[in-house]
Amino acid sequence: MRYARLAGPEWIEIEDREDPSPRPGQVVVEIDTCGIGGSDREAYRTGASGSGAWFGHEWTGRVVAVGRGVVDRFEGQRVVAGVSPPCGVCPPCRSNRTAYCRSTLEQTVGLDPLAADHGGFATHAVADGRRLVPVAEAIDIRSAALIEPAAVAVHAVRRSGLAIGDVVVVVGAGTVGLLTAEIARIAGAAHVVSIDTAVARRELACDLGSDAAFAAVDDSVRSWLDVHTGGLGADIVFVCVDTVEAISSGIGLVGSGGSIVAVGVGDRIDNLSITSLLVREADFRVSLGYSADDIGRVQALMRQDRLRVRPLIQTPDVRGLADLAAAFAADQDRRPGPPKVLVRPNG
Ligand SMILES: [Zn+2]
Repeated sequence: MRYARLAGPEWIEIEDREDPSPRPGQVVVEIDTCGIGGSDREAYRTGASGSGAWFGHEWTGRVVAVGRGVVDRFEGQRVVAGVSPPCGVCPPCRSNRTAYCRSTLEQTVGLDPLAADHGGFATHAVADGRRLVPVAEAIDIRSAALIEPAAVAVHAVRRSGLAIGDVVVVVGAGTVGLLTAEIARIAGAAHVVSIDTAVARRELACDLGSDAAFAAVDDSVRSWLDVHTGGLGADIVFVCVDTVEAISSGIGLVGSGGSIVAVGVGDRIDNLSITSLLVREADFRVSLGYSADDIGRVQALMRQDRLRVRPLIQTPDVRGLADLAAAFAADQDRRPGPPKVLVRPNG
C-alpha cells in the first residue's frame, strides 16, 4: 500500500509499506475518494495535523478485509468513516451524554492508542469496524465523499435551534458553509444569505438556493437584513470561517433573541468578545463535528437528491498520490470554482 504523510510545512512524503491485515474488530478499506478539507489545508500550511489519521479524514471506500469479531461489514461493501459507538464508562457516558463520549472523540480524530499513522490520502485504511457506516446504494462514489462534511453541516443546523421561517446568514461559502446554507433552507429557513469574498463561491451559493450573497459583512448585508427582518437582524448566523474576525462580524448581524453558531471552531478565538450579544440576549453556540445519526440524516437527504452536493466538487479529481502535494499547493491559492477537491488515491 501507499500513503501520504505530512512531513512538515508544505511538505508531503509518499511512502510505501506492506498491505495491512485487520486485527480483531478491524476492517481494511480500499479508499475510493478522500476529500481535502479545511483542517487538511491548515495542516499542510503549518506542517502540524492533530494526528496522522486526521490528515485526510473525509474518506470513503470499499471493504477488502474483515477482522475477527466484526459484524455487519463484508467484503465489497461501500463505507464511509463515521464515529465509534460510545464507551459507556467515561464521565459523559455515565451521565447519559453519550454524544460527548471521550473515547469516541479520540477515535474520530485519531488520538486513541490504536490510531493509524495516516489518514485517507492512502490506497488503504484500517479502521475499527464499528466506526464504519454503509453508503446507500443510490449515492455515487464522488457524492459519498461529501457525506462527512455534510454531517458537520447537519449537526450545525440541529445545534442552532433553527425554526420554520427563520432568516439565516451563513458566513463563509466553502464546503461546510455551502452545505450549511442548503441544509438551513431544507430545515425551513425563509431566507438564507451567504457571505464570501470569492465571487465564484457567491454565485454557487445562489445556485444552491441562497437568496442573496455578499462579499463581506458590510452595510449592504445590514440593509438586506433590515428589509427582510423589519430591522430585527438575523435569527441565526452560522460562521463557517475559523477566525476571530469572521465570528465578530457575524455577531453584529444577530437579532435580539437570535443565535450565532461557530461551526467547527478552532483554537484561534482566544480574543473573541461576545459582550455585544448581552443586550440582545442572543445565544453563542459552538458546533463540533457530528454524531452518528447526523450521517444517517445526510444519507436520507442525499438519496432523495434533496441535498445537492455534486456542484460543490471540482473536476477533475486528483488521481493517485503523486499529485497530492501539487493539489494542496494549488488549493492554497484558493482557485475559483467549486470548493471541494477529491483525491482518488488508487488512481
Ligand atoms: Zn464514553
